[in-house]
Amino acid sequence: MAKPMVVVTRAVPREALELLAAHATVDANGADVGYTPEELVSHARDADAMVSLLTDRIDDSVISQCPKLKVVANVAVGYDNIDVAAAARRGVAVTNTPGVLTDATADFAWALLLAVARNVVPADRYVRDRRFREWMMMEFHGAELAGRTLGIAGFGRIGAAVARRGRGFGMHVIYANSRRVAQALEEETGAHFVDKETLLASSDVLSLHVPLTAATRHYLSDAEFALMKASAFVINTARGPVIDEAALARALTSGAIRGAGIDVFEREPAVDPALLAAPNTVLAPHIGSATTETRTKMALMAAENVIAVLAGRTPVNPVTLKE
Ligand code: NAP
Repeated sequence: MAKPMVVVTRAVPREALELLAAHATVDANGADVGYTPEELVSHARDADAMVSLLTDRIDDSVISQCPKLKVVANVAVGYDNIDVAAAARRGVAVTNTPGVLTDATADFAWALLLAVARNVVPADRYVRDRRFREWMMMEFHGAELAGRTLGIAGFGRIGAAVARRGRGFGMHVIYANSRRVAQALEEETGAHFVDKETLLASSDVLSLHVPLTAATRHYLSDAEFALMKASAFVINTARGPVIDEAALARALTSGAIRGAGIDVFEREPAVDPALLAAPNTVLAPHIGSATTETRTKMALMAAENVIAVLAGRTPVNPVTLKE
């Protein structure tokens, strides 16, 4: 019997390709450059499975042109790049990679927070510009975190991991979520459930960890920034459209908030020029999960999901539509 065919849409760690090759014929894009929609369809037209990345837009049109497709295994925990309803209608399973990227992404939220709160980027530039002539008492003052309030929007895996780190830094943790989480998790993290308005008004640091859905698009816009403390920092390692990027640039420029650490953008890879020009802002090119260990685990997890579906088993990490 002919081996099934798996298309891999972008360069991924070698270990995942080797695992797939033991079970299938693999058509792998060796470049870390995404396919155009036309290239995607031309590679996936006869594929039984696809390993996709968040840069691939897998909509009904793509799925309908790939009649043999049984599974789309996204190498990400977010799956807002896939029309899950269309896939379900056409009998195509969708899977994601929860859990394995939690610590890496939580660490990176903290990297952005510490960088913006303590002026790491301007300080680095200052030294490189050879402007460091003597120790100074009154320059580069940042914000202290101990004793301050860390607000988490979206208290799932990553939100809770960010809260644990916050506790270690001596912060008071509050969270808003679609529902209150189990008491054991609240006790373990020391986090208190609040409504969104309280989260906005009380947070000295607001870190976003909601998925991108219709309900969370522009979770922060002008009205929300207006409710926040002028001393507050906003950290976004969730998805770009969760923040109205133009409103964020306005809030930073007007002093409605003090700073921001941003890993994800509304129209990636484009960044609003007003945000590029905004003060007290640390920007990163969507690298929240980018450690060698985590990216390898993510790709292996996607490969395992593909192998399960091709073998007629239930995938390990199915994405299901919420009511
Ligand atoms: P998760 O465990 O599913 O957590 C998401 C949390 O948000 C859940 O507790 C969920 O509650 C809550 N939520 C959903 N809709 C909400 C709403 N409208 N208002 C308030 N809370 C809401 O997901 P995760 O693994 O922590 O990942 C979170 C997100 O991080 C991903 O979706 C992804 O987009 C992003 N991410 C980014 C990077 C990066 O590289 N920057 C890396 C990894 C992940 P329910 O469970 O009740 O729905």
